[in-house]
Amino acid sequence: MLTDTHCHLTCDELYDHYEELLENAQKADVDLIMIMATNKEEYLRALEIKEKYPDRIKVAFGWFPGDAQKITQEDLDYLRQEALSKRMDVLGEIGLDYYWDKSFKEEQKALFKAQIEIANEANLPISIHMREASQDTLELLALSKTPIIFHCFSGSLPIMKEALKMNSLISFAGPITYKNNKQGPTNVEACPLNRLLSETDAPYLSPVPKRGKRNEPAYVTFTVDKIAQLKGLPKEEVVQQIRKNFLSLFETH
Ligand SMILES: [Zn+2]
Repeated sequence: MLTDTHCHLTCDELYDHYEELLENAQKADVDLIMIMATNKEEYLRALEIKEKYPDRIKVAFGWFPGDAQKITQEDLDYLRQEALSKRMDVLGEIGLDYYWDKSFKEEQKALFKAQIEIANEANLPISIHMREASQDTLELLALSKTPIIFHCFSGSLPIMKEALKMNSLISFAGPITYKNNKQGPTNVEACPLNRLLSETDAPYLSPVPKRGKRNEPAYVTFTVDKIAQLKGLPKEEVVQQIRKNFLSLFETH
């Protein structure tokens, strides 16, 4: 029973076919999926799907760093209300992204900090998007009092070691299967199995042998194959431990 801890099933590109994608996932033995919502519409869609499949679906919702200039106090109030309602399971993806645009770092930081505070208040785990912003992200994460998921981790080994000092899990996606990616496999080898997660980030980042196609939750199986191979462990052992790691996030709540 595989776990896709991060996919955008309710984004416009996937939502129209979500029933079919969930069926494909079931056939590939992927029966636990966390839907990441980055706006209100995606969030309400995700809640509807969770209502239909309460055992298979978790929902995460948060304001994305790239949207920092658009997010208003009203948006933050809505997130806080939903976080406190516990209709969502995880707050995220939140964080810092200096890859696409460095011009509004301060807005990104302020938004990130406000959302960490909401997660603390609601006692919800957080899912972190960190791209070319490791130092600032780790610095702000010192404020977090809840468990942390580093989504699609792509930092250096020293940064991963810093991240592992926190109450955190490190999630790996399709790029670890790419031929030219040396850092990803090195990180997987160095990450303790009891701190590791699998994800697709669908519709993005399809793993080999689906690279270049639209990604979907079923394909997490290829990423887990790679993790098992790098760890030199039977796939089933990796699958079970990932499930346990993910579910541990919700035990304390
Ligand atoms: Zn994502």
